Amino acid sequence: MHIHEHQAKTLFNQHHILIPKAVLIDNIADASKACTELGGEVWVVKAQVHAGGRGKGGGVVLCRSVQAVEDAVRQLLGTQLITPQTDAKGLPINQLLIEAGQTIERELYLGLLVDRQTQKITVLASTEGGMDIEQVANETPDKIIKFGVNPLGLLTADDCSQIATQLHLKASLADQFITTLLGLYEIFISKDVSLIEINPLITTTDDHLIALDGKIDFDDNGLYRHEDILALRDTSQEDQKENQASQYQLNYISLNGTIGCMVNGAGLAMATMDLIEHHGGSPANFLDVGGGTTAERVAKAFELIQTEKNVTGILVNIFGGIVRCDLIAQGILQAIEKVGLNLPIVVRLEGTNAAAGLALLDRTTVGIHTESDLTQAAIKIVALSKEAST
Ligand code: GDP
Ligand code: MN
Repeated sequence: MHIHEHQAKTLFNQHHILIPKAVLIDNIADASKACTELGGEVWVVKAQVHAGGRGKGGGVVLCRSVQAVEDAVRQLLGTQLITPQTDAKGLPINQLLIEAGQTIERELYLGLLVDRQTQKITVLASTEGGMDIEQVANETPDKIIKFGVNPLGLLTADDCSQIATQLHLKASLADQFITTLLGLYEIFISKDVSLIEINPLITTTDDHLIALDGKIDFDDNGLYRHEDILALRDTSQEDQKENQASQYQLNYISLNGTIGCMVNGAGLAMATMDLIEHHGGSPANFLDVGGGTTAERVAKAFELIQTEKNVTGILVNIFGGIVRCDLIAQGILQAIEKVGLNLPIVVRLEGTNAAAGLALLDRTTVGIHTESDLTQAAIKIVALSKEAST
């Protein structure tokens, strides 16, 4: 799960990491009040969306007058922000963070993640902050400082101090750096975080170390034990289809192809997608309906696939282990009755009660093509889908 910059900064603040003074608004009427409250002469208007690269996308605006702040707010609020990290549609801007402008001396990068190769929580730091860190890592990997935390121990002040030295931080900032990094580590450990980063972490001429941006991703599997974090979820920033799917315990991911897939089991879903590709088609989605699936869930899956706009055919591939194929067949028929069928569909059933399931589908008149062989099913749907789209 992702959270907004302002929410990340609130967590930073609770762990003694310095953040700029800021006011969150969702209304143009509050813009000038926010400036008065913050004081000063420079403000930064920041779109709150679940994506980075906002600076490049026009979602971070430096303003030198209240009028400029109001103009920026008017221009951004209620629109979609497109950045190098969003899709072409962008993400809705429902809230803006108005921050007191900071005078930047240096821009650093500081983050923590789980490094799968070394199997350690790893500190990443760089003197090249403010930029796309993936680009820095690719083009100048020597500019990335990596420190793997001993899995049997904890990150220590001494470790932090060594990283501060590698970043060439002034001695006067060493203590603030230790507090900042230990704060990030504390959040990481206590909240089941998968990625936490400050980019940029700035130094100011008056000797402060300030988190100018904040990003935190949480491990979904740990969310059940963090009600406070779950309360920060903003579904307006999520894919609406994937959301609906998760409510029905369906693992659904939209893709760019044209053949909708409904499969039980993640591995089988991957294999099905590969076979579709192998025979010249392209999958419109990844959809795992799970092991002990029900007719209701099959119906929901159908609805999701059929509302995907590129879909020109559907392949259902079920291997009946625990689940009985005749029940799946009933589910498919119920779904078609409920949501209609306006696309060619191939159903491949194999395993428990497969013959009964296929017979049930063959008896109907809604135009379902049945197969018991997966390769034949893939070839068939690719052909039907091509016919349907011409
Ligand atoms: P991102 O593009 O989504 O990562 O958004 P950031 O919060 O990192 O902002 C992008 C850039 O805007 C930062 O790297 C800074 O260079 C700049 N910026 C943000 N806040 C301030 C500020 O208060 N003063 C100045 N001078 N620049 C700022
Ligand atoms: Mn940033």
